[in-house]
Amino acid sequence: MNIYDSTRMLDILRPLGYLPVHAQDDADLLILNTCHIREKAAEKVYSELGLVRQLKNAKARRGDHMIVAVGGCVAQAEGAEVLRRAPFVDLVFGPQSYHLLPELIGRALRRAGGGVLATDFPVEPKFDHLPEPSVQQGVTAFLTVQEGCDKFCSFCVVPYTRGAEYSRPVAEVLAEARRAVASGVREITLLGQNVNAYHGKGPDGRPCGLGGLVRGLACLPGLGRIRYTTSHPQDVDDELIAAHRDVPELMPYIHLPVQSGSDRILVAMNRRHTAGAYRRIVERLRLACPDLALSSDFIVGFPGESDGDFQATLDLVDEIGFAQAYSFKYSQRLGTPAASAADQIPERVKSDRLAALQLALDKQKRQFNEACIGKVLTVLLEKPGRHDGQMVGRSPYLQSIHVAAAAERIGEIVSALITDASANSLSGSLAEAVGA
Ligand code: SAM
Ligand code: SF4
Repeated sequence: MNIYDSTRMLDILRPLGYLPVHAQDDADLLILNTCHIREKAAEKVYSELGLVRQLKNAKARRGDHMIVAVGGCVAQAEGAEVLRRAPFVDLVFGPQSYHLLPELIGRALRRAGGGVLATDFPVEPKFDHLPEPSVQQGVTAFLTVQEGCDKFCSFCVVPYTRGAEYSRPVAEVLAEARRAVASGVREITLLGQNVNAYHGKGPDGRPCGLGGLVRGLACLPGLGRIRYTTSHPQDVDDELIAAHRDVPELMPYIHLPVQSGSDRILVAMNRRHTAGAYRRIVERLRLACPDLALSSDFIVGFPGESDGDFQATLDLVDEIGFAQAYSFKYSQRLGTPAASAADQIPERVKSDRLAALQLALDKQKRQFNEACIGKVLTVLLEKPGRHDGQMVGRSPYLQSIHVAAAAERIGEIVSALITDASANSLSGSLAEAVGA
C-alpha cells in the first residue's frame, strides 16, 4: 500500500513541477514514506534520517535547499516525536493527509521555526481530493479499494495509524481500473489492510462486497488478472468464495493470514477466529477452486505463547500446506494492548521458534514450486530477464517464471510448460498465448 500511496503522491506533486529523480542528491524534495508495523521498520526510519541529514547539510553548503518530509504510519504514530528527534525534517504527514501535500509543502517552504505537522484524520476521504492517477508504467498495478481497520488485533498498530475502515465506491474503483487497463495494465491487485471487509457503495446505492467488486472488474475488457490482499479470515464470505469458483480472472491464490494455530493465542490476539474456523474456510475455498494455493502471515513469540501453542502453529502449517508465507517475531508496539502484557517471551525463544517455523514454511514453498514441474501455468510477461531473449513473468501463484520469448510480448498472458524449479522461481518453455 505504501507503493500505491507513493505513486499517488507523485500524481499530486507533478502539477507543482516535481518529477521523480534517480539519485537522492538531485532531489529538491525528499519524502520518506514509512511503515510502523514492527519496531524494526520504524527504527529504520531514524537511521535513514541520519543519512538524509548529511545529504541536506551537504546540499545546503552548495547553496541548494532540500525539503525533507516524513510520511506514512511512522509519521502518524510518532508525529511531533519525529520533529524532536530529527529537527531538520520540514514536514511530517500521516497516510490520510497526503492529498494536502501542495498546501503542506507551501507551508514547509515558508517555515518559520519548527517543521509542519499534519497527522489529523481528515473527515473527508482523501480519495475525493486526489487527481486522476497518472499513466501506469508497467503491466501490473496496485489499486487501493479499502483502507483502515476496525478489527483491533491486540498486537497491531494499523487501526491507530490508518484509522477506521473506509471503502471506496464501486464506480470510483472501476473508473481507476479502466484507466489503468487503457494504459496497458493487464493485472490489478486490489489493496486494503483488510481488503475483504470491502463494502463500497454499489451502482444501485447498496453496499457491494469484495466478491461483487471482483465480478464487476472481471467485465472490463483487457483486464486479464485480478488479485487482492490482505484478507482477514473472518471476512471471507460466501460471495468471495463463489467468485473464486466462477471468475477465471480472479487468480487462484489467496493471502490469508492466520497468525497462530493456537486458539488460546488467537483469543489473546483478539483475532475473532479459531484455528478450526480457519481450517474450515480453507476447505471451502479449496472445494470452490481446486487449484487454489495459500499464503499466510504468522507471528511467533506472542505474549504467553507456550511450547504447546507454538506446536499448534506447526501442526496447522503441516496440515494446510502453504505455497508461500511471511513470518515474524512478535514486536511490542507502544499503545497496543499486547505491548503491556506481563508474559512477554524472551528474544532467544522467539528466534528459535521463528527459525523452526521458517524451516517448515521454506520446505513447503520448495515442494510447492517443485510440484509445478510438468504443469502448464499461465504467465503474465512483465519484463526482460537477465539473459538475451529471456522474459520474466508471474504465475497465478506469484512465482517468477523465466521463459524464452521476444521482448515485444510484454503484457501478454501466455501458457508455459514448467521445466525447472528453484526455491524462488520457475523456468519453462512457452506453450500457446492465451490472451493478448
Ligand atoms: N490485516 C491483515 C490481517 O489481519 O491478517 C494483516 C495486515 S498487517 C499490516 C501485516 C502483518 O504484519 C500481520 O498479518 C502480522 O503478521 C504482522 N504484524 C502486525 N503487527 C505485528 C507485530 N506487532 N509484531 C509482529 N508482526 C506483526
Ligand atoms: Fe492489524 Fe489486520 Fe488485525 Fe486489522 S485485522 S488490526 S490490520 S492485523
